[in-house]
Amino acid sequence: MDRRTDVIEDLMARFPHIPKEAVIKEDLLRGGVAFDGSMLTDGDEGEVKPKSYFIFSFDHRTLPELGEAALRRPPEEIILTGGPYDLRRTVVSVRVNPASPYKIAADEEGRAKLFLDGRAISDVGLPPMPDYYRHTLRNGKSVMEVAPTIQWGYLIYLTVFRVCQYFGAKEECQYCDINHNWRQHKAAGRPYTGVKPVQEVLEALDIIDKYDTLGASKAYTLTGGSVTSKVDGLAEADFYGRYAKAIEERFPGRWIGKVVAQALPKADVQRFYDYGVRIYHPNYEVWDKRLFELYCPGKERYVGREEWHRRILDSAEIFGPRNVIPNFVAGIEMAAPGGFRDVEQAIDSTGEGLQYFMSRGILPRFTTWCPEPTTPLGQMNPEGAPLEYHIRLLDRYRATMDANGILPPPGYGPPGAGNAVFSVSSFMDTLPADTAIAEETPATV
Ligand code: SF4
Repeated sequence: MDRRTDVIEDLMARFPHIPKEAVIKEDLLRGGVAFDGSMLTDGDEGEVKPKSYFIFSFDHRTLPELGEAALRRPPEEIILTGGPYDLRRTVVSVRVNPASPYKIAADEEGRAKLFLDGRAISDVGLPPMPDYYRHTLRNGKSVMEVAPTIQWGYLIYLTVFRVCQYFGAKEECQYCDINHNWRQHKAAGRPYTGVKPVQEVLEALDIIDKYDTLGASKAYTLTGGSVTSKVDGLAEADFYGRYAKAIEERFPGRWIGKVVAQALPKADVQRFYDYGVRIYHPNYEVWDKRLFELYCPGKERYVGREEWHRRILDSAEIFGPRNVIPNFVAGIEMAAPGGFRDVEQAIDSTGEGLQYFMSRGILPRFTTWCPEPTTPLGQMNPEGAPLEYHIRLLDRYRATMDANGILPPPGYGPPGAGNAVFSVSSFMDTLPADTAIAEETPATV
């Protein structure tokens, strides 16, 4: 099949129970999208919310290779609707790839459209600039730099430590460009705070609290690189936990507090909980033992896969299994040099991990791998994983949830095609609609 249109239509026909929206969304996430210059933003001064580069680059080219999109940022996310596939409202995180067969451009009447192989396949909604982005902190920093929001405003993404102490080829996860993203933004002269002061975070949240008049923001995520020694004199649990403590003291219960951190020993996990965090993401990245060792060498060396998994289970005793939501990076199972060559084997391996956790009441979730060009896996696999892998994963994921009686996770907004806001994979688009879930706050254990 030469044309991308044929590839997606073939998968839509073979997997009719997977929403068409998810097929297109996964393809955009794995392969990126090109932008006509007229669809880029006018930065801080414009009407469209710009891409904040909230943790990784999530682009298929380095900044200097993005041309105009490096100078005038693309939008943070897009919404797809209508078109020949009659798409329901679908929120997609923007990953720029000038060579993609997908392109966002204006049609003859000036309306934003998504084109595939030269044919318009959906209307495109661009995110409006939120009021809170129009205000700055007292020191002049923008809210977008200190506390960007994603998922159409649902999630405040607090990357409070913008580098990782797993450093260099022998330690960095082989698909991760956090350290490169830091370097490239610094080189481009963009503001990019390495360790965000607690007071700046609180000030930015004050602004969001005041100007998010529609109440779109429901949760915050504290995250950043792994801490293997100390930052600001603090080990990982106390470093990330101090932000949660300060936020919960200032805005008790205003947002659902989440933390993405390593799988830490139980006493450290208890401290996260005591600081006010309610959802814990100890990301296991990839299930297969050999691939974890190869692709997450730092995590393997400092903690080890079996211990990592044991700590995930232990943390469920503190947070409750429903509030432990470890992430994996969907697609790296198929990345050369060590990955599976066969889609079915990759799905079986990942499915084994899903069953391991879901049978214990823990629901993993995943982000769709973007093969960033400065990472070892991105360099070897610029096309990412095949779209069929991603579609079959959605299928297996939902089937494993159903078999184990697991509900959609709290803190992710509404599930279901047409409702979901989670923008970096379509797992939420693929689950059945359930409005009660959207309003659920994590139970206190
Ligand atoms: S632990 Fe791995 S994935 Fe996480 S920030 Fe560090 S290098 Fe990246």
